[in-house]
Amino acid sequence: MCGMKKFFPLFAVLLFLLTGVPVFAQNAITVKNERLSLDFPKSMTFSANASSVSEIREATLVVRFETVTRRLVAKFPPANDVALEIEWNLDTEDSSADGGYIPPGVSATYTWLVQDAAGNKVESAPKTFTVADTRIDWETIENDDLAIHWYGAGKAFGQDIFDDGVATLQRVRDELGAGTGGKTHIWFYTDSDDFRSSMPDLNAWTGGRSFGYHRSIILLTTPTDPKEAIEGARHELTHQVVYDSLGNGFARQAFPHWFNEGLATYNQFDNHILAGYLAGPLKEAIRRDELPRLKSRDGNFPPDSNEALMSYAFSFAIVDMMFKQFGKEKVQQVYQLFQKGTEADKAFTQVFGMNTDGLDNMYRKSVGLPERDYSKAGIPTPAAIPTFSISSGETPVPQGQATPTPRAVSSANTPAPAAATTVPQNTSPNSGGAGLCGVGLGGLALVMFGAYVTSHHVRRASKSILRDDGSWRKRRKRFDL
Ligand SMILES: [Zn+2]
Repeated sequence: MCGMKKFFPLFAVLLFLLTGVPVFAQNAITVKNERLSLDFPKSMTFSANASSVSEIREATLVVRFETVTRRLVAKFPPANDVALEIEWNLDTEDSSADGGYIPPGVSATYTWLVQDAAGNKVESAPKTFTVADTRIDWETIENDDLAIHWYGAGKAFGQDIFDDGVATLQRVRDELGAGTGGKTHIWFYTDSDDFRSSMPDLNAWTGGRSFGYHRSIILLTTPTDPKEAIEGARHELTHQVVYDSLGNGFARQAFPHWFNEGLATYNQFDNHILAGYLAGPLKEAIRRDELPRLKSRDGNFPPDSNEALMSYAFSFAIVDMMFKQFGKEKVQQVYQLFQKGTEADKAFTQVFGMNTDGLDNMYRKSVGLPERDYSKAGIPTPAAIPTFSISSGETPVPQGQATPTPRAVSSANTPAPAAATTVPQNTSPNSGGAGLCGVGLGGLALVMFGAYVTSHHVRRASKSILRDDGSWRKRRKRFDL
């Protein structure tokens, strides 16, 4: 290399004389020591050294995800040799400034784009990485369609969930006549502290989120019984199939929230039998003749936990009725119309001969309630919950969906509290599909407080360095709290 250095200027001058083109354009800048350090769930630090024959003025980190590219500009005093460093903040849903949350399982490549005062530019060779919660030693079972990741429970636990997940994907696709998507990752946290610290802005009652855009589902579950993990996975995988098969356009935005949640809840339970914590509020609403107008659940569910649970159950009941009264083929026909971007009322009318209000009244009749004339004024139509988007065009930070399972948010060594409430969160029309629906647990905050003070957590501080083969080399410290 020493010989090269001496030889290079002469070689360059000769080439310049011969061609009249400054050859430094290719070789003047070198970028080396590229390094990515992941400190999940806090941050990622990208660093590199760049040098050039003239002063380096600009350096941009370019991170390319499957469908979006982010550019972050490095700050440094101009010099011939510069140390570049950019910290990507993972600990925020706000992706507008310096990064933003990325769920585990998401892959991307990054390069450095460097420019000097002479106008030379270079882009470093791309390096690939996958975001992971490197605090945890995950067990994995996977095929081309589905990957189940878990810890804190034996192999049989993961295998049961995986087998059921594979069957669920097949069943839901068959039910809807939907095709396959890419591989979906489900991360099962079996410790509430790990789970709660893995994502920013997580409500105390949220027990899971799904990021349809990233094909990543994150669920909190008890390690002792795979049943609730299986039910949670069924619910979220249904959302994933819906998300995949509706495409990116209008169809995904126009798909009624109640239909999406109704399908997910329909597929959640064995033999489509609703769990008591959901059936109860529905029964009560019927008894009091306080069922909401179905159409009022097109956009989102109310924040009140009991109302939300009742909305899941009501949505389930409508979907269950569709399959029983009209059959799978008709439901598929409706779904195909949705896929083509047909509006809900048009699609239902075309296939079932009735619109959303008609389905609403059909159900009312089936449970012995008087039909309503929705064309008349005075029928209570709760205002839609305001929705907003936290994802910008440049950013892979979508909304999630969570499962209304009666799971306890408990630490691994604390018995689960029983009561459950579900509090749905905001919906993003941009990310399409339903919004984040939290797994709510009534009175949980108090129960959890008790759990925290009595349990013995091992909190793991983790920093991992990206290897050339794309894997993470852990630099983990363990310390008991
Ligand atoms: Zn859901």
